[in-house]
Amino acid sequence: MNNRVDYCQLNKDYAYWTEKRRLGQQRGGHVAGLLSHLREGQVKQNILFDAGLGTLEAIADFCPDSFWDEPLVVFITHGHIDHHAELMILSEIYCQRRGKHIHDIRPPITVFCTEDTQKHLYKTHHYGYTGGKSLQYKPITPGEMVRAGIFNILPLAVDHFEGAVIYVIEFNLAKPHKIIVGWDMTTLPLEHIDRLQQPSLALFEATTWSSITADTGHSNIEDLVESGFLNKMRLTHQPGQQAYAAYLVHYSGWEDPWGMLTDAQLKEKFDKKYPSLSNVVRLAERGQRWRFT
Ligand SMILES: [Zn+2]
Ligand SMILES: [Zn+2]
Repeated sequence: MNNRVDYCQLNKDYAYWTEKRRLGQQRGGHVAGLLSHLREGQVKQNILFDAGLGTLEAIADFCPDSFWDEPLVVFITHGHIDHHAELMILSEIYCQRRGKHIHDIRPPITVFCTEDTQKHLYKTHHYGYTGGKSLQYKPITPGEMVRAGIFNILPLAVDHFEGAVIYVIEFNLAKPHKIIVGWDMTTLPLEHIDRLQQPSLALFEATTWSSITADTGHSNIEDLVESGFLNKMRLTHQPGQQAYAAYLVHYSGWEDPWGMLTDAQLKEKFDKKYPSLSNVVRLAERGQRWRFT
């Protein structure tokens, strides 16, 4: 059987979309990722991780139009608006607008999240969960594995916001793989390190360079490295073996004393300061895709 999994980093930036535009970036938005299981070239399951600003534009840019006819579920990391702002627009298009016929209405999209996160989603997207019938809540509990298609998805609690989780996704194709969706963390989840170690691919949040989490509520490059967290992850970068190590997402940089750096400047600074990690820590690109077989 010709099985394959793709993970695409739809958006990688934290800063507001319009703010990025003002700074001269053509495109951007909030962090969102799409995991796809394909068999014989056909998508069997899409799983969207977060649905903040810019998600729809990213789907338009990086997914074929058939996305709208493929099986879809959504996992939300936490209730901050930047991680779910476009959820109900997406579900409205998916359920109400994309059938063959104007009156074809599809079943609601299942949205997995913790109970605390659901309070925020329900407030914002109330119509989708009620009269609009395009969204349906499925509760998850940190530490309890959820099965979705071929994927085992483990939510792990992080102390970023009420109900916030990161996700560890495991699946077996010709060999076993592990992907970590690790964005929006205030304290680094060192207590979960044994669940996180040796990933095929890890996306970690680094909102700033400097260790100013007390001001931002977000993790940063200095803490990721200097706490020993990245070393304890036991990362390997061997693309031929489908081991891609860690990629940083959610970067903003304007909170740093020297302001926002370009990706090239940020990577150069990182490699100079932390040469022993330069091969295993990279910056994700918008639309970057990793393949697993
Ligand atoms: Zn957040
Ligand atoms: Zn965020």
